[in-house]
Amino acid sequence: MATFSRSAKTLHPAALQQLYAALETARKIIVIGGGFIGVEMAEQISLMGKTGQHPFEVTIIEMLPHCLMLACEEEFCVQAEDELRRMDINIMTNSRVEALEGEKTVSAVKLADGTSLPADLVIIGIGAVANIDLAVKMGLDADPRGGIQVNEYMQTSDPDIYAAGDCATKFSLITGKPSGIRLASVACSEGMIAASNIYGTTRKTMGALGAFATKIGNRSIAAAGLTTSAAAKEEIEVIIGEATAPNRHPGGLPGCTMDMKVKLLFRKDTGAIVGGHVSGGESAADMVNIIAIAIQDKLNAEQLATMQYATHPMLTASPLAYHVMLAAENAALQF
Ligand SMILES: Cc1cc2nc3c(=O)[nH]c(=O)nc-3n(C[C@H](O)[C@H](O)[C@H](O)COP(=O)(O)OP(=O)(O)OC[C@H]3O[C@@H](n4cnc5c(N)ncnc54)[C@H](O)[C@@H]3O)c2cc1C
Repeated sequence: MATFSRSAKTLHPAALQQLYAALETARKIIVIGGGFIGVEMAEQISLMGKTGQHPFEVTIIEMLPHCLMLACEEEFCVQAEDELRRMDINIMTNSRVEALEGEKTVSAVKLADGTSLPADLVIIGIGAVANIDLAVKMGLDADPRGGIQVNEYMQTSDPDIYAAGDCATKFSLITGKPSGIRLASVACSEGMIAASNIYGTTRKTMGALGAFATKIGNRSIAAAGLTTSAAAKEEIEVIIGEATAPNRHPGGLPGCTMDMKVKLLFRKDTGAIVGGHVSGGESAADMVNIIAIAIQDKLNAEQLATMQYATHPMLTASPLAYHVMLAAENAALQF
C-alpha cells in the first residue's frame, strides 16, 4: 500500500520509486484528473498490469464531462475515452474528488456526491503549481498561481534576473490574457529567448500557444490553440473546417489509419486560424506542429488551402486528400 503524505507537493524521482514499489502490491488504483498526465499515467499503469505480475483496476476521476477536455475537441476526447475503456480503464467523468480517506495510508477517495471509492494507490494529476519560494524570498514580483512575473524578454522585476519555463508567468498567444499553459516546448522556447537576451540578441516571446500531443492505445491525438468551447468562452466566433481521410495512400497500405481527422478553427472576423485538432495515426503530432506555426503566423483558410506539402504513399495522405489542406478548403468555402 502506498504511503500518503498530505504535505507532498512535487513529482520527484524518489516519488516515482515509491510509486513503482507501491505498484507491486496495489490492485485498485485511482488517478485523479483526466488531463494528459492523468490519462497517460492510467494508460501506462494499465499496460504494466497486463504485461506484469498482476492486473490493476485503474479508474480515472475527472470533474469535467470528458477527459482531455481542456485541450481537445469533445469528439476526440470521446475517442480517447473509447481507447482507455478498450484497455479496461474505468472512467468517471462529471465527478469531483472532495477528499482522500485513510489513516497513515490512503484507503479510499471520496467524491463530492458522497461516494467513497476504495483505493490502494492514488495518483493526483491536477493543479500543479510552480514552487517560486526562492524568487519570492529574493523580492522578485510574483503571482502565486502564475509564477515569477516576467516581461516579453523573460526578464523578472530585477532586469538582471531572467526566468523561463514552468516557474514563469505566461500570456496566451491568441488572447493575450494570462495563460496557465505549462509545456516543455514552451519552456524550451522561453529558455532560448532568455539566453539570447542575456547574450545581447533581442528576442521576445509571442506568448504561449499550447501545442499538445499524446498517444492513447492505438490513437494519437494532438491539439494546438483554442478548442471550440474555449473560443466560445472568449466570445470568438469561429468557422470550422474538417477533413477525414486515410493517412496513407492508397488506404489499403499496411498500418493505415482510415479515419484520421483534422479540424481547424478560423476567426470569423479576421479569418486567422486560432485552433487545430488532429486525431488518428502517429503523424498527428507533426501535423499539429504545422497548424501551430500557421496559428503563430495568423494564416487564413485560403492560404492553408493552397499550401504546399510533402506526400508519400507510406507516410502521408494522398496529395489530393492532405488533411490540413482539405480542412482549410472546407473552411474557406464557408467564409
Ligand atoms: C508527468 C508529466 C508529463 C509531461 N509530459 C509533457 C509532454 O509530453 N510534453 C510537454 O511539452 N510537456 C510535458 N510536461 C510538462 C513539462 O515537463 C514541463 O513543462 C517542463 O519540464 C518545464 O520545464 P522547466 O525547465 O521549466 O522545469 P523542470 O523540467 O521542472 O526543471 C526544473 C529543474 O530545476 C530543478 N530545481 C528546482 N529548484 C531548484 C533549486 N532551488 N536549485 C537547483 N535546482 C532546482 C528541478 O529539480 C528540475 O530539475 C509533462 C509534465 C509532467 C509532470
